[in-house]
Amino acid sequence: MDFSLTKGAKDFIDDARIEKLLSQKEDAGKVKSVLEKSLEKQALTLDETAALLVVESPELKETVYEAARKLKREIYGNRIVLFAPLYIGNHCINDCRYCGFRRSLKSAVRRTLSDEELVQEVKELEREGHKRLILVYGESPEYSPEFIAHTVNVVYSTREGHGEIRRVNINAAPLDKEGFRIVKEAGIGTYQIFQETYNKQAYAKYHPANTRKADYLWRLDAMDRAFEAGCDDMGIGALFGLYHWRFEVMGLVSHALHLQQRYQVGPHTISFPRIQPAHGLDLDLEYQTTDEEFKQLVAVLRLAVPYTGLIMTARESASVRDAVMQFGVSQIDAGTRLEIGAYHEKMSNKGMQDLEKEQFQIADNRTLDEVITWLMEQDFIPSFCTSCYRIGRTGEHFMEYAIPGFIGKYCTPNALLTLSEYLMDYASPRCRQEGKRLIESELAKMEDSPIKQQLCDRLKDLAENGTRDRLF
Ligand code: SAM
Ligand code: SF4
Repeated sequence: MDFSLTKGAKDFIDDARIEKLLSQKEDAGKVKSVLEKSLEKQALTLDETAALLVVESPELKETVYEAARKLKREIYGNRIVLFAPLYIGNHCINDCRYCGFRRSLKSAVRRTLSDEELVQEVKELEREGHKRLILVYGESPEYSPEFIAHTVNVVYSTREGHGEIRRVNINAAPLDKEGFRIVKEAGIGTYQIFQETYNKQAYAKYHPANTRKADYLWRLDAMDRAFEAGCDDMGIGALFGLYHWRFEVMGLVSHALHLQQRYQVGPHTISFPRIQPAHGLDLDLEYQTTDEEFKQLVAVLRLAVPYTGLIMTARESASVRDAVMQFGVSQIDAGTRLEIGAYHEKMSNKGMQDLEKEQFQIADNRTLDEVITWLMEQDFIPSFCTSCYRIGRTGEHFMEYAIPGFIGKYCTPNALLTLSEYLMDYASPRCRQEGKRLIESELAKMEDSPIKQQLCDRLKDLAENGTRDRLF
């Protein structure tokens, strides 16, 4: 590993400035003008983001929520992209105090999937109907860039019936530039790394000094190294509960602005996991984020970075997901299992977690089919679309969302086509019935156009001839 930082790497998290901006008083006039700017689909500055974060009065908060809801509908429509995490191995050289994989936890059961086990996991996920996965790894010399690339290749080449994984994302330790080149070569989608906390004191508290991960700047610089190595599809995140939620949102927005300024491409996604109970976890979390704060942070992120996808994971319960989705979430996982090997080995043990073998406890253990049915009942379109990534619409091209009509031209038709494939190949009768209703209602909403005609032709071709994977 080459542990040198990007040339000119700098710590772009200005703690003092963030604290100062967060000390501003709630100002209804300022909030109004910030929301107007945001609804014109312009990214917010740090000062404007802070103005929304300090809002406390219930009526003003409602206007923030209403604006976030509107912006989500306008930019992302009503699609929700679905994926599943797939844990590859939990060996770890680090000792992050919040994690069930930390090295000092001797009772943690450690395991890395063999190629054969990985194939079985992928086949099971394909049998459930998944098309997009995120592979997750602890940090260990075992999980080298070459190993990660190998597992990505195994996943892409595993097929079961009509099933195939069309996009593989990664959540693993930060790499050096050469490492990022190697995983990019393997055809990954997004490379996701969470800073955990952007506050340096809190970072030092949770990441013991004698570990690799204690190096705050090595982690903060990771996205820069990745961009310089040719990756342009990156996911950032913070683990909420380690420090004040408002500070973390400012950290995330600072990170997004930094990447945008330096590489003209912002992060593809932002994640905002909250700390969950885990094996051996005994933390006194002074900054635990409440449900109300969680809702506000999602809404503010939506407004601050309009073109960045927001991911809400199964760490959140069905009821929190239900309440928060509308304010800006664009991706969720479903049918999630964290135990290594659990997709193919624990078929009969649905919902039961064995925390000695897992990173943390999840709160939404519904099946993929249940989640899809629930989304459609709320009039969301569950989507397995992987089109942009596969035909090269990544990085700066994502700004094409800004072009009027992009969603209507590509995203909604692709969502309906991939949903139809799911309904045909994997859905339960109830889900299929709900899907039929949703697709009819979405088609009825569309104006007559050549795209609508092509979509109807492709849906017919799928139903009658089984022609799958026809992308817009
Ligand atoms: N080991 C790599 C690393 O640390 O960068 C990969 C990440 S880890 C397998 C995935 C993420 O899970 C971490 O970045 C952290 O934010 C999150 N995580 C760890 N412990 C957690 C807990 N108790 N509750 C919720 N999320 C947790
Ligand atoms: Fe290891 Fe990642 Fe867990 Fe830290 S968060 S102990 S690096 S798996």
